Amino acid sequence: YAKQRGKNRVESYQKRYDELLRRHSVLENELRHAIDRDQLRLVFQPVVALPSVRPVGAEALLRWTHPELGSVRPDEFIPVAEESDLICVLGTWVLDQACAQLAKWLTAGHDVWVSVNLSPKELHAADYAGRVAAVLRKYGVPPQRLVLEVTEHAVATDMDELIRRLVELRSTGVRIALDDFGAGYSSLGQLRNLPVDILKIDRALVAEPESRTGMAAPLVDVVARLGHRLGLEVLAEGIGTPAQREVVEEAGCRLGQGSLFGWGVPAEHLETQLRTARQSGARPVPAARSRP
Ligand code: C2E
Ligand code: MG
Ligand code: MG
Ligand code: MG
Repeated sequence: YAKQRGKNRVESYQKRYDELLRRHSVLENELRHAIDRDQLRLVFQPVVALPSVRPVGAEALLRWTHPELGSVRPDEFIPVAEESDLICVLGTWVLDQACAQLAKWLTAGHDVWVSVNLSPKELHAADYAGRVAAVLRKYGVPPQRLVLEVTEHAVATDMDELIRRLVELRSTGVRIALDDFGAGYSSLGQLRNLPVDILKIDRALVAEPESRTGMAAPLVDVVARLGHRLGLEVLAEGIGTPAQREVVEEAGCRLGQGSLFGWGVPAEHLETQLRTARQSGARPVPAARSRP
């Protein structure tokens, strides 16, 4: 009986594994046509200045809606794309679309920047910096209006090579953000050597204080301090509640992002937010705190 149960379990693992493989290859095949078939679009999540919550920037996030599969989350399809050269094709499309949108906002007079997520493979592709510069020229976007987000995964590979790449990119005038900082293995020691401009504190750290009632968010505080000591701008991700916002402000973060301020939305919606903010100055928000 036990033997039979063991056998069943092995068979069900095998089945699950086969399903995953099948899903993976379906996604890979379909993703190859996603651009041509017009299934991709960008949404923009606002980045706000704290404590005023005035929108100052936006992160471009990729969305894929397939006629049969429905909407597939980037957490699922980006890793699939990263296993092949597909990620570079997608990345090129994202960069182009994001810069086109940024140019429109700037032409409309909005004081805003846009960030784009970069996968390690793109960063290490030949002459990536040259291609970024070309896209900026194509749309007439001042380089300092574009932020490129890299993650710690890219950091883990070859530090010297990474630093060379970042220096090259930065020489085009774009700014670099270190994304998801504090998630997974951390590189507190390496941070000092990295030529980056913005430190994005991962939402896992931002969410942390809630699980430890009464404690003043030790990690957000320490990381924000470190970032400021290194002369970086510090942005807290995934702010979902007024309490989290308070903790993040207390830690001195001057930039914030998260569901409390808005999820990723189509460009037109964000434009409305930008316009409203410009007309009314900093809009008052619930739980606004006066700072000394
Ligand atoms: P990320 O760059 O860290 O992006 C932030 C993710 O957190 C987004 O998920 C966003 O919707 C989500 N988020 C924002 N605020 C909150 C919040 O308050 N609470 C919670 N629970 N989540 C929040 P999304 O859009 O599903 O993207 C997931 C990841 O996929 C991104 O993480 C990024 O690593 C990757 N990704 C998305 N678009 C692109 C792209 O164009 N290129 C590349 N290479 N990667 C991308
Ligand atoms: Mg990001
Ligand atoms: Mg992030
Ligand atoms: Mg992430």
